[in-house]
Amino acid sequence: MAAILYVVVPCYKEEEVLPETAKRLCAKLEGMIQAGNISSASKILFVNDGSTDHTWELIRDLQSENPIFAGVNLSRNRGHQNALLAGLMVAKDKADIAISMDADLQDDIDAVDEMLEKFNQGFDIVYGVRSKRKKDSRFKRITAEGFYKLMGIMGVDIVFNHADYRLMSKRALEGLAEFKEVNLFLRGIVPMIGYPAATVLYERAERFAGETKYPLKKMLALAFEGTTSLTIRPIRMISVVGLLSFFVSIAMLIYFIIDYALGGTTAGWASTVVSIWAIGGLQLLAIGVVGEYIGKIYLEVKGRPRYIIEQILLDDGGSGEA
Ligand code: UDP
Ligand code: MG
Repeated sequence: MAAILYVVVPCYKEEEVLPETAKRLCAKLEGMIQAGNISSASKILFVNDGSTDHTWELIRDLQSENPIFAGVNLSRNRGHQNALLAGLMVAKDKADIAISMDADLQDDIDAVDEMLEKFNQGFDIVYGVRSKRKKDSRFKRITAEGFYKLMGIMGVDIVFNHADYRLMSKRALEGLAEFKEVNLFLRGIVPMIGYPAATVLYERAERFAGETKYPLKKMLALAFEGTTSLTIRPIRMISVVGLLSFFVSIAMLIYFIIDYALGGTTAGWASTVVSIWAIGGLQLLAIGVVGEYIGKIYLEVKGRPRYIIEQILLDDGGSGEA
């Protein structure tokens, strides 16, 4: 039997693009259903992220016209990541596969076929990766690529140039549901789920209509959220800088002692400078150590799953339970 596919689309003030997005996605899915690639129970699930325009009314109308559409309405704007999670969690219970994409048609919907193919080959997670960003403005491209680099430096394991266009199988979604954290950065969490993963390249198109809902400010917020919710490396960096400054002070001290022995020092200067570096270094180191503890508490408080069991092989003598 063909798999049930849910396409999850978070929407925030997308009334300008929604009709077109719905039309194209509908044509795509209906084609796939007809070809027998996916089940006829497949749906296009729009998640309205507390839009203040007519997005939800549009979704409601679409749903009443064609049952291939479905909608989830959030109580208020919770941000892209949370809206997406809400949609994925609904899909988890109903579908075999969920594909998440943006409402603005920047993700090439034809890449869905290739994603499905990978799924059929046995991959649980398929990342859509942008091959180039020619269509984005120069500023957006530079800031966005800087974003991925920065995340990498900060110790966040993410797929380069992959946004939230991805396919996830039911069990990958169930794995995702085990992550109970409130500060959510899906791109960082999904690789942690494990399971076989693959990537599919696609060309990112221009926003179809309307303007970006991710201005630089929101992107910086996302980068900050991503780093602080995934890694305590920044804290460790503080300790390292502290330790280095302390070593610098020691080196200076040695230098000044030698200099003094050779009779060439300015009185008072050496001791002042050495103590500034020594105290500064020790302070940073101390903050870093305190930070390490806070980091531990932070990670504990999240209560993340320590593992996700892929399969249990257990032969209990044929008592019936698998
Ligand atoms: N979005 C959302 N909530 C928000 C901001 C954005 O659900 O608070 C959705 C938006 O409707 C779109 C997706 O997130 O479907 C990506 O936003 P956008 O295309 O504006 O970002 P960009 O592609 O410019 O980075
Ligand atoms: Mg976009």
